[in-house]
Amino acid sequence: MLKSKSNAPSPTEAIYERLWDAIAERNLRPGTRLKEEQLAEIFAVSRARVRSALAALERDGLVRLVPNRGAFVAEPTIREARDIFFARATIESKLVERLCAHASTGAINRLKAHVAEERAAAERCDRAAAVRLSGGFHLLIAELAGSPYLFEVLRDLVSRTSLITAMYQPRGEKDCGPDEHEDIVSKIACGDVEAAKLAMDHHLDHIERQLNLAQSDEGPRHLREILS
Ligand SMILES: [Zn+2]
Repeated sequence: MLKSKSNAPSPTEAIYERLWDAIAERNLRPGTRLKEEQLAEIFAVSRARVRSALAALERDGLVRLVPNRGAFVAEPTIREARDIFFARATIESKLVERLCAHASTGAINRLKAHVAEERAAAERCDRAAAVRLSGGFHLLIAELAGSPYLFEVLRDLVSRTSLITAMYQPRGEKDCGPDEHEDIVSKIACGDVEAAKLAMDHHLDHIERQLNLAQSDEGPRHLREILS
């Protein structure tokens, strides 16, 4: 992954992050063409920098580079979608187990505060914040479980999940949503490992079962409008 933890990301990292966010928050939809020269203009950088950022996004599975045609937001197949949910269920079950073993009051409070933020975003119908926060909930569990490596792995899986739900989730269906997250937190707070793992399993299974092959009917939006 191309990410900077420092305060001053390089221009390439900044483009990567901006595009990553726009894809993960589903403002840039699967199949959207990412024109090099337009991105260079929007970010006021050289096309070489744009190319580096796009290459890094391709390595992370979020962008597809087609010779002589350019870069497109990736369109995961149903099979890839199933594999990603399989990987998430396996990893997240273990992360919950690990977190249950040593969840401090501080950790529980952070999880509760996060769910409260999700609920507030849902109530004010802030779709972008709701998408970001619902993925963020899963990443917070990874962070609190204390594995920077698994955090990075999950970050990748969560962003790919965003592409999958953008493609295969029927309109009107919600993402994670605060209710099931709240249930997971309450089980972790009780220290009930099996119940917490079951709640996470049920939650991921629920999201996966909502998927279908219906394509979004939203028309393409202009890069400048999304990224400016
Ligand atoms: Zn969730």
